[in-house]
Amino acid sequence: MTISDEADRLEALRALNLLDTPASETFDRTTRLAARLFGTPMAAVSLIDERRQWFKSRVGLVIAEVPREHAFCQHTIVAPDVMVVPDATCDTRFDANPLVQGEPHIRFYAGAPLVTRDGHAIGALCVLDDKPRLMADADRQTLAELAALVMAQIELHQAGSRADPITGLPNQFRYQDDLQRLARQCAGEEWIGVAVDLAPPEEINDVLRAVGALHADNLVRLAASIIADQLGPAIQVYQVRLTRFAFLMPAAAETDWQTVITQLADRLHRQVLFNDFPVSFPACAGVVPFRMGELAAHDIARMALSAVHDARAAGEAWALYDAESDRAHQRRHRLLSCLPAALASPDQLRLVYQPRIDVRSERCLGVEALLRWRHPQLGAISPGEFIPLVEQTALSRGITERVMRDALAQSAAWDMQGLGLAVSINITARNLEEPDLTERVERALDRHDLLPDRVELEFTEGALLHNSARSMQQLRDLRALGLRIAVDDFGTGYCNFSYLRQLPASVVKLDQSFIRTLPSSAADQIIVRAMISMAHDLGYRVVAEGVERREVLDLITELGADEAQGYWFCRPIPPDDLAEWVGERQEGSRPGVQAG
Ligand code: C2E
Ligand code: MG
Ligand code: MG
Repeated sequence: MTISDEADRLEALRALNLLDTPASETFDRTTRLAARLFGTPMAAVSLIDERRQWFKSRVGLVIAEVPREHAFCQHTIVAPDVMVVPDATCDTRFDANPLVQGEPHIRFYAGAPLVTRDGHAIGALCVLDDKPRLMADADRQTLAELAALVMAQIELHQAGSRADPITGLPNQFRYQDDLQRLARQCAGEEWIGVAVDLAPPEEINDVLRAVGALHADNLVRLAASIIADQLGPAIQVYQVRLTRFAFLMPAAAETDWQTVITQLADRLHRQVLFNDFPVSFPACAGVVPFRMGELAAHDIARMALSAVHDARAAGEAWALYDAESDRAHQRRHRLLSCLPAALASPDQLRLVYQPRIDVRSERCLGVEALLRWRHPQLGAISPGEFIPLVEQTALSRGITERVMRDALAQSAAWDMQGLGLAVSINITARNLEEPDLTERVERALDRHDLLPDRVELEFTEGALLHNSARSMQQLRDLRALGLRIAVDDFGTGYCNFSYLRQLPASVVKLDQSFIRTLPSSAADQIIVRAMISMAHDLGYRVVAEGVERREVLDLITELGADEAQGYWFCRPIPPDDLAEWVGERQEGSRPGVQAG
């Protein structure tokens, strides 16, 4: 056997995933049968690994493996047929063998090679005796047939663990094996790895609920057959997850890969009948170009999935892998997975407070609570980064719960100090969908003995725009409770005034983007003046956010804003500093003293 043959043989053996697996009754039954048939005290199914012989099944043998150089079976795997050693002590290959000289004192050996479909002899089925004996031709034939039976069992076992149980398509283990094989055969060639995702997870759940698990299997089968049919016999399709498929193709294939993928996506997007019901698959593909041999299967899978996400986000049928967006995706993923621990930890999340100033009296009437997250490894993470992630998940509830708890406790503590500050809390659109939000707010107010008008809830314009009838009712309930409702970042969405009129809000916070550039933009001044005047006509109080300079403050005062918030007065600061700041300021703003 040449070195390369041996390498192929070892690869074939390892691909079977049999080495070091637990004992199995299926194999043991055949081994026992062999021992009984031939009347030998010992029998085994042995596999010849690189440096050892390992017994998948054994009768009458104590040890589970022996060094390869001592294995009789290593001669069987290169023999043309069944190998018989009538008396090992008379055979120069074996007479000094420790298994002959010592336990289990082998004298007789007969082994039939276990040969894979591809012709690799991976081991042998053997019978052994501690007495010398002969073997008739008919018995050799029987042993060979038993070995074929063992091999069939091995292949059955392998097929079961390497094909998807629903579609019968090769699974991710096969994908890995095939990639390894290609890595040797086509090393350095340019290939592409493609993942095809049938539908986004939320849609999959909806479909599962609608059609039931049994039909869901059929639906996946339908998708699998469409994909296999579209790609044709030259491209092997693998099923790597319930609703995700993968395939590999040379970048320089006859039909260019862009065409292959586009046509595949078109085909999946097209309607077909399923149980007389028209269905289509909102599939997206992710494409990873790579040099064969340079990426492992799990890398390709991860990169392709990242590209699938990009394709979905862009509303495209497929996207190429992009390292930068992958890094961003991984960071988002990491932040989201770290948030539950942050919520449970006492010191990762804390609130800072930013004053809101009445522009006429220049007094601080209230503060906005703003969340800060210090991650033990990643450092400070801005709410601008993590809040949009939280908003898409059920973590929204926990975060707002925590903010509400801390902010109301703080407000009550300031009351005790005689500061009397209203506190504004940012609430996500998702929170509005929680049926018990009003109840929880009410309980929190009771717990801290706070009057509802001390608390303002801020919702961004976007959150209010996409709300349902239920969240609208919730807003009314909160308002009826006596809380103030503010529309945050006003002007950034497409909220018009007639819509605003229907909202039970009392405060409008003009977005920073209009305020910061106000002195230099005549157009913004016109817009802001109009917005303030219309908001006033509808009975809202107007807050200008992002006031960083004196001249901006002067301008918004002139344009009619009621309150201002921004770095000009104070950045968001910890509660103790805030109490100090307010104390100094209220003293400083007594009549006759100019506030700064
Ligand atoms: P927002 O509610 O509009 O909060 C105002 C943001 O503007 C804050 O950013 C604040 O630090 C910043 N800011 C205030 N004055 C100035 C200024 O003069 N110049 C500039 N450049 N910025 C100023 P922050 O704290 O980074 O928060 C960003 C956004 O994250 C908030 O926008 C809000 O939408 C969200 N957020 C913060 N904390 C929470 C929270 O506890 N819950 C929820 N749901 N969202 C939060
Ligand atoms: Mg806000
Ligand atoms: Mg804002």
